[in-house]
Amino acid sequence: MPTFEEAKAGIGKLVATKGFGNTPADFEHKLFFAFLELGEAGDLWKKGPEKALNKGKPFASKDEWEDALAEELIDVIFYVFDGARVLIPNKNLDEVFNKKFAKNMTRPHRYGEDEAAVMHHDYSGANMGKEGNR
Ligand SMILES: [Mg+2]
Repeated sequence: MPTFEEAKAGIGKLVATKGFGNTPADFEHKLFFAFLELGEAGDLWKKGPEKALNKGKPFASKDEWEDALAEELIDVIFYVFDGARVLIPNKNLDEVFNKKFAKNMTRPHRYGEDEAAVMHHDYSGANMGKEGNR
């Protein structure tokens, strides 16, 4: 399994090989595409394995749907890491992750969530695809 820095370097090779934008000015483009990929993941989640489509056709199995969802999430990571690579190339993402993880571990239970939202929303995914569960 690659470290974040190894993944970032690999994405840099991919970008150079495929001719994608490779300067700090390309950051906003990469960030925008990260949002698009996040939307693709969210759409798969919202529709669920029974209703989501894979290139216009139903998924053959829940496992195939899970593979597609995982791939969209990895697409998000590609663009996020690539954005970091072009805009803040000297920041070591492994170090940043470890520092942020340690910081978050010191925070209280369910920090940052509004009490009412925690009480009235189902975040389990058990009702995925049902209207109103956003
Ligand atoms: Mg995608």
